[in-house]
Amino acid sequence: MEFHISNMDSLKFDHDHENNSHIITNPLDPQEFRRNGHLVIDFIADYYQNIEKYQVLSQVEPGYLRKLLPESAPYHAEPIEIILQDVQKYIMPGITHWQSPNYFAYFPSSGSVAGFLGEMLSTGFNVVGFNWMSSPAATELECIVMDWLGEMLKLPKSFLFSGNGGGVLQGTTCEAILCTLTAARDQMLSQFGRDKIGNLVVYGSDQTHSALQKAAQIAGIYPKNFRAIKTTKSTLYGLCPNSLRATIQSDVQAGLVPLFLCATVGTTSTNAIDPIGPLCEVAKDFGIWVHIDAAYAGSAFICPEFRHFIDGIEGANSFTLNAHKWFFTTLDCCCLWVKDPSALIKSLSTNAEFLRNKASDSKQVVDYKDWQITLSRRFRAMKLWLVLRNYGVANLRNFLRSHVKMAKLFEELVGLDNRFEVIAPRNFALVCFRVLPSPKGMDGYEEGEAKQVERANELNKKLLESINGSGKVYMSPTVVDGAYIIRCAIGATLTEERHVIMAWKIVKEHAATLLSKY
Ligand SMILES: *Cc1c(COP(=O)(O)O)cnc(C)c1O
Repeated sequence: MEFHISNMDSLKFDHDHENNSHIITNPLDPQEFRRNGHLVIDFIADYYQNIEKYQVLSQVEPGYLRKLLPESAPYHAEPIEIILQDVQKYIMPGITHWQSPNYFAYFPSSGSVAGFLGEMLSTGFNVVGFNWMSSPAATELECIVMDWLGEMLKLPKSFLFSGNGGGVLQGTTCEAILCTLTAARDQMLSQFGRDKIGNLVVYGSDQTHSALQKAAQIAGIYPKNFRAIKTTKSTLYGLCPNSLRATIQSDVQAGLVPLFLCATVGTTSTNAIDPIGPLCEVAKDFGIWVHIDAAYAGSAFICPEFRHFIDGIEGANSFTLNAHKWFFTTLDCCCLWVKDPSALIKSLSTNAEFLRNKASDSKQVVDYKDWQITLSRRFRAMKLWLVLRNYGVANLRNFLRSHVKMAKLFEELVGLDNRFEVIAPRNFALVCFRVLPSPKGMDGYEEGEAKQVERANELNKKLLESINGSGKVYMSPTVVDGAYIIRCAIGATLTEERHVIMAWKIVKEHAATLLSKY
């Protein structure tokens, strides 16, 4: 591939004339960092400035990149200007623009200036804070921000360091659930004997994130002992405490050992809510570990008007939310709080001789390596600290509320149109809807129900393909009770009301075109 270097003079490369390559003697040269760092910052700032010009969902074909890039890594150094040109030319077309204001798919991955700068500081120090001694500030700041955020969420004192519980920043919810499930498993097996692992049962609903199933697989829970309890429209797809009790009772009668319940507040599919208080009551009767997964919706609990969704959390053992979803902190940043850190530590600690030190031996410090899967860990607290400080509770609440308000608007717009219906009730900033083959209130077709469902599903699949293919917006699907539904998740940081209104207009236009062919 030909490269044209435009301003060679500005490049601080030493020339090795013999083989005409650039010899770099210091890969961490502060001057080089300053110069190239500014170039990259400018590149990213330009990106955010122009982000609406890109098609939200990347439209490339599988394997597109291999055709464009050289077959091998370069032998000689290449300057950052050239690399950035290639990012623009080759990488950008394959980017799906999660930060676009027209991004409404899955859940948001809400970035922010503070989160971004925090990430830079953390990467800048590039410390590996596996235990306290390896970078005391990394551990201590993490303990502090976890208590700060826990207080903002009005978590019970028992989940905070100030109340003998504590929090840890992990990469993702998948890891956090695995860690808590492992802790619960070992606690139970220490009572019943390790050979009883085949008796342990894990509970969730049919709406629970696949993170639970994955955790159960890895933790050695027998597949036959994984319960995805059916939810129904009558409970708005929340897990019914009576169903949980009945399922557990039949397991107990069969000689099995109920172990772990993952309750979700704000399911991924439709934002359904499992009733925390009543579920914890059931769990208590059987000594089950309760984990609350609020990966997306958890952020909203910093607003008093949403906090009631986790009333009863006192009865749970652990709680997670993803700050990288709807809390303006760049990926990855899953916040996990546990009531009993010693349960985690018993399962996850190791005591390698080469890691021993006076501070750890004194038991006066937190060694986060014992709270998670990996040894090495990033200084994630830095970015969360920046987000909390640089915005403050007041702004954070306002950001979230503005997203909820825009979601209400979208919900209203859908509700006003009799060709569409809102499916599940909107709890936060996710609206689930679909287009109807025949307008609301009109008798359908002279065909069976199954046929009608199929027609509706086909129509909505086509509609979603059509709007996403336009590149103007990006939404994602789900299936509830056999119905194919479109999800519009509002919460990209750059989204404003005008984008939501435009998104609705695009949905309507594409639906009209499709319906005219019916
Ligand atoms: C997104 C999500 C997860 C998975 O989160 P990761 O951090 O990607 O593991 C789990 N549960 C719920 C409810 C989610 O919305």
